[in-house]
Amino acid sequence: MDASMINKIQKSKDYARDPKRATFHTLVLEFRGDNNSYTVALAPDGWSCTCPGFQTYSICPHIMSLEKIFQAMLKRDPLPYAPGQNIVSDVTKAKRYSEELDRMKIISFEAAFKGDNKDHTVTYNNGTWDSTSSYFKSHGIGAYTMAMERILGAMVDPIRQPAYKDD
Ligand SMILES: [Zn+2]
Repeated sequence: MDASMINKIQKSKDYARDPKRATFHTLVLEFRGDNNSYTVALAPDGWSCTCPGFQTYSICPHIMSLEKIFQAMLKRDPLPYAPGQNIVSDVTKAKRYSEELDRMKIISFEAAFKGDNKDHTVTYNNGTWDSTSSYFKSHGIGAYTMAMERILGAMVDPIRQPAYKDD
């Protein structure tokens, strides 16, 4: 492993300890609820979820749990509670979900990432990572993507690491 890679790994650990450096612009994930699985999405104009609760109230425990988990990386106000919503039940459920991360599998995201020198965009699409950093372009891995991988853990597929490939 060359010195530049060791440096990027160290940098990614520092970045991952400071998740507010990242801001999700978009996020799509598969969410395993107690009975069914739903698709939850964050777009620039807001959240959506395919569950019946969201269709009625425009808020649901799935989104509420993601607001908890990704608080530092959203930079937007939580959705307001809706008239008629069972708030006690939804808050309890969202709290439990937010401690059960294996329910969530990220399908795609686009995030801005504030580095020490520059801002970059990190994207993820069905297991394929990309970044606007020049180091990523030449090495297929870099501090920003590795930091996002550390933050998101098992919710994403690991970055394939061409630099470590046996040949
Ligand atoms: Zn939902």
